[in-house]
Amino acid sequence: MIKGENQKVVILGAGLAGLSSAFKLKKQGIETILLEKTSIAGGTAKTVKKNEYLFDLTGHALHLSDDIAKEFIFNELNLGKELVAVERKSVILMDDEFIPYPFQYNLSYLEENKRNLCVIEFLKTNYKNLHQTDNTNTNNLSFYRSFEQFCYSTLGKGISELFMIPYNEKLWATKAKDMGIEWMGKYVPKPNFEKIIEGAFVKKEVDGSGYNAHFYYPKSGGIQTLSNAIYGDIRDLVYFNQEVTGVDLENKEVFCGNKKYKYQYLISSIPLPEFLKLTNLSDKDRNLKWNVVRAFFVAVPSKKTPPFTWIYVPDPKNKIYRIGNFSLFSPSLSTNNEDVLYIECSANHEELEKLPTYEQIKDEIEKITQLDIDKIKLIEIIDICPGYPIYDLSWKEKVNSIKKDLEEKDVIVAGRYGSWKYESMEDSIMDGIIASNLIIQKGQ
Ligand SMILES: Cc1cc2nc3c(=O)[nH]c(=O)nc-3n(C[C@H](O)[C@H](O)[C@H](O)COP(=O)(O)OP(=O)(O)OC[C@H]3O[C@@H](n4cnc5c(N)ncnc54)[C@H](O)[C@@H]3O)c2cc1C
Repeated sequence: MIKGENQKVVILGAGLAGLSSAFKLKKQGIETILLEKTSIAGGTAKTVKKNEYLFDLTGHALHLSDDIAKEFIFNELNLGKELVAVERKSVILMDDEFIPYPFQYNLSYLEENKRNLCVIEFLKTNYKNLHQTDNTNTNNLSFYRSFEQFCYSTLGKGISELFMIPYNEKLWATKAKDMGIEWMGKYVPKPNFEKIIEGAFVKKEVDGSGYNAHFYYPKSGGIQTLSNAIYGDIRDLVYFNQEVTGVDLENKEVFCGNKKYKYQYLISSIPLPEFLKLTNLSDKDRNLKWNVVRAFFVAVPSKKTPPFTWIYVPDPKNKIYRIGNFSLFSPSLSTNNEDVLYIECSANHEELEKLPTYEQIKDEIEKITQLDIDKIKLIEIIDICPGYPIYDLSWKEKVNSIKKDLEEKDVIVAGRYGSWKYESMEDSIMDGIIASNLIIQKGQ
């Protein structure tokens, strides 16, 4: 029985964003309930148990850069002792060789002609930028119309065509010329000139570059440990198996089948296209786009595959775009002398027929893991939908106008899917905290 049908705040979705909002609102004594359609907390940041195997919905490496998020996780949730700092050991598979990540800082690992192409084209691009005669500021991301233009104008043809464009086109299931730049920020930093040139001639084993050189991961229990830590303090607010089936924005009512909840403020962390369909704004769903990640989980003999946390596979001939090994996130995810690997493929949500079957990727798995296929045991196949909200060229206008319409109705969207952004777990937690702060401020 859910307490009180009249709530100050109703939150939709018990992923990290919804859970974090509820946690903070509870601390302020603000009357809140959280409705979740499944029977567990965590959303995309959950850990699945299948037979003796434990795995996340592909690798979930926790990167922490925000002091507020760190304070929340380490102190308020008291996870300081439970989270272990793990070194990223990631590589790129190219021409049957593993090249250390990031690609642009390790060009010396390429065949000579490819290395030369990358360096020459990068130098030409930089020369052109230095001698730009108009007032355009190439350091400003908003200068670039598309991801493709950013790549060619900052990295040059070689790095763009060998890695940046093919890898991202596979991951996002979208052509680089059709992708905007708003998602890039910390994920694709502006190239460092010295590091590119040095890395083209000097081989380095490990380079702590990029936003994810180190990450945190729970000692045990998979990434679910993080979601559970938030949920543990707000059990009384969270109602499972409550699929929201309608939202009346005018009368401020949420429906779960024939149950109705009135709210003063609504925080939605459920996927934005789904939320719009539940409201009378459905005729204006503004054609949001997303990909679906098909994740294959396999068990392999321990320590017999290449020793990398994850391997990027940019070659368009391969259907797989990334393979990771959970045992290198935490040994607690190995079992019975077996490691669990995740294998990711992606397709645009309007082209699901492009998602491969296990049969169709067996050869690729064999080649990348360097194991005979009879040593590889398929555990599970899961479609993560939506996987990545796609930033097409009109993403900003569409999402901003939807948010404005919703804010006028006292609806705050939060999290990777609620606010329709390329967000990490840290970002989604921060979004949840910010959403609760907005309500706390309004209440004062
Ligand atoms: C393949 C993949 C790999 C990733 N790897 C990383 C990584 O390495 N590091 C990292 O930091 N982040 C990673 N992320 C991102 C991370 O998973 C998300 O940022 C975060 O989990 C999003 O949390 P959320 O609360 O915004 O959304 P969600 O976790 O999706 O939560 C939304 C909740 O809403 C519920 N819901 C949906 N519809 C309804 C409805 N009608 N009624 C009620 N409830 C509903 C869902 O069941 C779900 O529980 C990855 C994501 C993917 C897809």
